[in-house]
Amino acid sequence: MSEDCVFCQIIEGNIPGRTVYEDDDVFAFLDANPLSRGHTLVIPKNHHERVSDLPPEDRAAVFETLGRLAPVVEAAVDADGVTVGMNDGEAAGQEVPHVHGHLVPRFDGDGAGAIHTIFRSTADLSDDELDEVAEEIKAAAE
Ligand code: 5GP
Ligand code: ZN
Repeated sequence: MSEDCVFCQIIEGNIPGRTVYEDDDVFAFLDANPLSRGHTLVIPKNHHERVSDLPPEDRAAVFETLGRLAPVVEAAVDADGVTVGMNDGEAAGQEVPHVHGHLVPRFDGDGAGAIHTIFRSTADLSDDELDEVAEEIKAAAE
């Protein structure tokens, strides 16, 4: 628990939140500034900033809950799909430094794009560059 963290304070009940699910490991609540009706955040109860900081049990719990709640939230608000996303790191737009997954219900014709619309253009890498990047990541992932 971090005294300075708004999400830790919501878990503790010191800041009000609209809880939609809670167990020993995770907490899910409505986003205060929803992008759509039903916009839900799923967080580990333990305070960690980045996805890579999560110990395996918390990582498993967060992703299991995202997968389980996505269709639940979708059905609850009668949506047609869900954007499941994480802003991981300040450069990626993470504003609250406590890992959180967004479940944003999507509706046919809602006018919002795919995650790809975050970028105005693609990276435009040659086949050789793609091969090189794949090799770099593969080597680091082993
Ligand atoms: P990020 O940009 O870090 O991925 O998203 C943080 C999200 O947390 C935003 O969508 C924002 O609306 C939400 N948020 C920030 N402060 C609060 C709060 O005090 N309560 C709730 N329920 N949501 C919050
Ligand atoms: Zn926290």
